[in-house]
Amino acid sequence: MLHPFSIFLLSFFFFVFNSVNFASKKSYASSILILPEKRPSIMNHYDYSLESINDMILKEGGKAIGRINKQKIKKNENLHLFLKRIGFSDKQTNAIISKIKSNYPSINILRKIPTNHEIHYAIPSDNLGFGINFKIGKYKDLYVWQNNSKEIQTKITKRPFKVINNLNKIKITDNFYNSALRSGLPKEIFSELVKILGFSIDFQRELRKGNVFETFYSQKIDLITNEIIESNPIYYISANLKDHNLKFYRFTSRDGETNFYDQDGKSSKKTLMKTPLNGARLSSGFGNRKHPILGFTKMHRGVDFAAPLGTPIFAAGDGIIEYSGWNGAYGKYIRIKHNGTFKTAYAHLSKVYKKRGTRIKQGDIIGTLGSTGRSTGPHLHYEILMHGKQVNPLRIKLPSGKNIPRNELENFYKKQEIINNKIFAMRKKTINNEFAYLKNLN
Ligand SMILES: [Zn+2]
Repeated sequence: MLHPFSIFLLSFFFFVFNSVNFASKKSYASSILILPEKRPSIMNHYDYSLESINDMILKEGGKAIGRINKQKIKKNENLHLFLKRIGFSDKQTNAIISKIKSNYPSINILRKIPTNHEIHYAIPSDNLGFGINFKIGKYKDLYVWQNNSKEIQTKITKRPFKVINNLNKIKITDNFYNSALRSGLPKEIFSELVKILGFSIDFQRELRKGNVFETFYSQKIDLITNEIIESNPIYYISANLKDHNLKFYRFTSRDGETNFYDQDGKSSKKTLMKTPLNGARLSSGFGNRKHPILGFTKMHRGVDFAAPLGTPIFAAGDGIIEYSGWNGAYGKYIRIKHNGTFKTAYAHLSKVYKKRGTRIKQGDIIGTLGSTGRSTGPHLHYEILMHGKQVNPLRIKLPSGKNIPRNELENFYKKQEIINNKIFAMRKKTINNEFAYLKNLN
């Protein structure tokens, strides 16, 4: 006869196997490649979470429980208040809380559980024990139940997850944001992509129908719920524009700094940004009739970015604020001196956050987008000044940030090749899938 524990083990593996299959069917567009998982060492001594508190009681032994309910934590409710609300007595509630505290003195979720956090529970009765379980953070679960002598048991487990790699392709059809969403790229990855490329691309003027962006990134998938736990990191980005073919690879140097570099190891960061605001918030660059999205001309010696009122404006580079406040037709205005050669200016702001003389870092928020001064609608007017004269940001070639040190280049090329090979394999897999699909149709 099979021991109950072996039955449990079998069913658990069957369950994990099935969820892997299920996930791969679901995410067709993203070819899947499971990487060997590096887990933080602190997680090593935890067992895996199970699908329900019932399974945990089956595995660990304990008093049988009744129907499992789910409820969400209300605003300002801690576990104590929650247990009382759902029908636990004062005595039971106190016993449960103090047991958890004594078994896990450093656990801080009991003080403040996030609003809407879901708790699974079974109410105790004369014949049945109780069961409680809920997630702690993204990667752990807490289980509380009773053994057959009604003593309270607790266990913290790690949730089983897998890592998948995705190769996403955005083809610009209307605006950047909508095209990205349609491609299935997670929002957090998109905003990261925009940040990395914002140094090299003017998202307002340089995008055209048919431009292609490729992103290679990882996701962690919860094997119990099949939900995405986290989308990151990005390993590779490419942009194919009319005048630009950009490729950037993630690389962590020996001093622990992670940045993106082109094929030759040159930083994706430039001394100044081409798009000094979140490019994801820009109104459509082409076919936009609402705002005049002006380019650089003799009459208009800067470039305009149309985005919603209040959009944060970034310092395009490190420097010192040289002017901050009202400046005639420019409205609320900030000018930054970056070095002996370059200055940048930002006009029509609704708010300025930095005073004259403030030292600032690239990417710091210096104000918010507005429509002050002589302005036809909410937009940022951005100027790059070289030796005191406005120059065309689209034409200017800016020096890049800190490149990969010579003695780490070989290592970088190796990493680059690994990433390229993975991308190549995924492209091939996608083509094969599409081929198989076409064959099935015939
Ligand atoms: Zn302008």
